[in-house]
Amino acid sequence: MRRAEKAARVAAILDELYPEPPIPLDHGDPFTLLCAVMLSAQTTDAQVNKVTPGLFALARTPAAMVALGERRVLAAIKSCGLAPTKAKNLVRMAALLVERHGGRVPDSLAELEALPGVGHKTASVVMCQAFGRAAFPVDTHIHRLAARWGLSSGKDVATTERDLKRAFAEATWAKLHLQLIYFGREHCPARGHDPRACRICSWAAARRRAPAE
Ligand code: SF4
Repeated sequence: MRRAEKAARVAAILDELYPEPPIPLDHGDPFTLLCAVMLSAQTTDAQVNKVTPGLFALARTPAAMVALGERRVLAAIKSCGLAPTKAKNLVRMAALLVERHGGRVPDSLAELEALPGVGHKTASVVMCQAFGRAAFPVDTHIHRLAARWGLSSGKDVATTERDLKRAFAEATWAKLHLQLIYFGREHCPARGHDPRACRICSWAAARRRAPAE
């Protein structure tokens, strides 16, 4: 099956399963979304959503985050993985927003990526979810699914992002990012299941796999 054909069939199944996938991280504006995405590294979205109401009650602007300071940010987020590093990055990121961007989150991938603790994937999430810009954030789960389904070579995340952007219409990237995340969470157990029973792997898998993955 050609890659474009495969992509269309995958998109149709995902649209059927997740017609309007919600953004899983609670937020109120670009700054609180950026903070939530930074907190989500190696932490579940549910856990992030537990700590952000308390954190944002104390500081929901860059200036307030700087004033709160690393120690109190850490106290507010300590149940998240990598909390000390995240607390440091949140305060440094907020300080740079105040210094360089007038206390606003920049609407630019390059400027976002220049902020402490903000990598390409985090910046891409903010670009599409906060600003409605065309971006296709690819995490390790999406990277793995794209390789399994033969939509990319699986070489690296950057290649997967490029291949997925070619395979799907730009207007669908942001939604597909969410649909793929939900599909991976709800349909892909870590081990011990039969890919032949999967709605997508059963026909799209790049190569035949043993029954138990
Ligand atoms: S076979 Fe398993 S891992 Fe592959 S997409 Fe289906 S559920 Fe996910």
